[in-house]
Amino acid sequence: MISVIKHRIHGMKSVAVKCQGGFNMAQEISHQTDGKQSLYQVALEQLDYVAKLIDLDASVHEILKYPKRELTVNFPVRLDDGSYSMFTGYRVQHNLARGPAKGGIRYHPSVTLDEIRALAMLMTWKCAVMNIPYGGAKGGVICNPKRLSSAELERMTRRYTTEIMIIIGPNYDIPAPDVYTNPQVMSWIMDTYSMHVGHSVPAVVTGKPVCIGGSEGRLEATGRGCMFVTLEALKHLGIGLDETTVAVQGCGNVGSVAARLLQEAGCKVIAISDSQGGIYNPNGLDIPEVLKHKSETGGIVDMFASLTDAKGLRKNVDVVSNEELLELDCTVLLPAALENQITGENATRIKARIVAEGANGPTTTAADRILYDRGIFLIPDILANAGGVTVSYFEWVQDLQAFFWKENEVNNRLREIMVSSFEEVLTTAQKYNTDMRTAAYVLAVERVALAGLQRGIYP
Ligand code: NAD
Repeated sequence: MISVIKHRIHGMKSVAVKCQGGFNMAQEISHQTDGKQSLYQVALEQLDYVAKLIDLDASVHEILKYPKRELTVNFPVRLDDGSYSMFTGYRVQHNLARGPAKGGIRYHPSVTLDEIRALAMLMTWKCAVMNIPYGGAKGGVICNPKRLSSAELERMTRRYTTEIMIIIGPNYDIPAPDVYTNPQVMSWIMDTYSMHVGHSVPAVVTGKPVCIGGSEGRLEATGRGCMFVTLEALKHLGIGLDETTVAVQGCGNVGSVAARLLQEAGCKVIAISDSQGGIYNPNGLDIPEVLKHKSETGGIVDMFASLTDAKGLRKNVDVVSNEELLELDCTVLLPAALENQITGENATRIKARIVAEGANGPTTTAADRILYDRGIFLIPDILANAGGVTVSYFEWVQDLQAFFWKENEVNNRLREIMVSSFEEVLTTAQKYNTDMRTAAYVLAVERVALAGLQRGIYP
């Protein structure tokens, strides 16, 4: 089946959107990749695949391949012992056709410009899928934050902020937390920027503490968004909440919130894990009890040993490894820890009906194809975990207006956007007879291309 849509742009070339049914991105890419290429090469191949599929205008395709801006900064930081150390940081803005740039800042020893480029491009697609008015960006500093004192981290953050100030700002590029950056780091960025311009500018970053202009509901937003799209997938497949079992890999910000909210919604959460392993009870776990234990002791697995028979909680609870958890018999598998967990090796043994990608990149391209062929419904990361960036958008809107919403209002608006984005991706998938990941990319690339064509090429 071949369908053709034409987006006619006033006074401009049209984007011919052509799609062949029954294919997905993974089928095309998996044989070329599976672990060998850089994240940026994979991102480019994904774009190439979608461009071909929708018959994207060649010049628009060429523009989308490149980041608009890449800034590399080398800067000294005074360490606690009085010596100085040089650090390298980056800020990359991929595409600004739909609005100012948005994307996290990560602190990690393995940060590279290539990785930041790829992540900036992914942010462009994620914001476009959610239809929030941003382009994509990402930043990072090559460092080991675990080896820096809090004072060193603060000095590094303030200097990095000063170095990238020439391209960030509430109307230009709005950073947020990513790997090993947190609300405290966002506070230092906001303060440094504000000191330079001479007045408080809360809208320059999101993910701040509520007391300096953060949003209610931001901390729980990614897990909550994951819950909303999972409920939509269940509804779409005609599976009742009372017959739904859920296994969650990861018990951090995303996994713990998604597990608690899915249980509150009426699903049975049968397994949950952290880096040490997990616990499993086919009759359902008491998630608030598990989370309380984890916050008090830092672990999950030892809960099994510490549970008292008198409370009856230990009955039927087994310890499972993270690998075993992925292969449990359940309705929903929610990977919310690391990337590359569902691979070409274990995808044939996944028993879930739905995979909801709470984490970024938990499924390899080879696994994607196997899951698709086996009829497993996958909610891709750029949709499933986009609740965080969506509430970041709300935070920015509230900061710009200096008018703050109640948590209930934030959650309701989040639900609206998650549900409508899910429906739009599903409609695209059905229309082109393709999988949800390919459909999400098609929707995103179309939207970004359309915005670019509508605005035209300056001058
Ligand atoms: P987190 O650090 O709060 O939690 C990570 C969890 O994974 C922890 O429970 C940790 O114990 C567990 N874990 C670590 N190694 C593991 C292993 N080998 N096997 C199983 N579990 C392991 O992180 P988070 O913020 O919840 O993020 C989780 C994922 O979601 C990441 O991929 C992140 O990029 C993605 N994500 C997070 C957000 C957000 O707003 N927090 C937004 C979008 C995407």
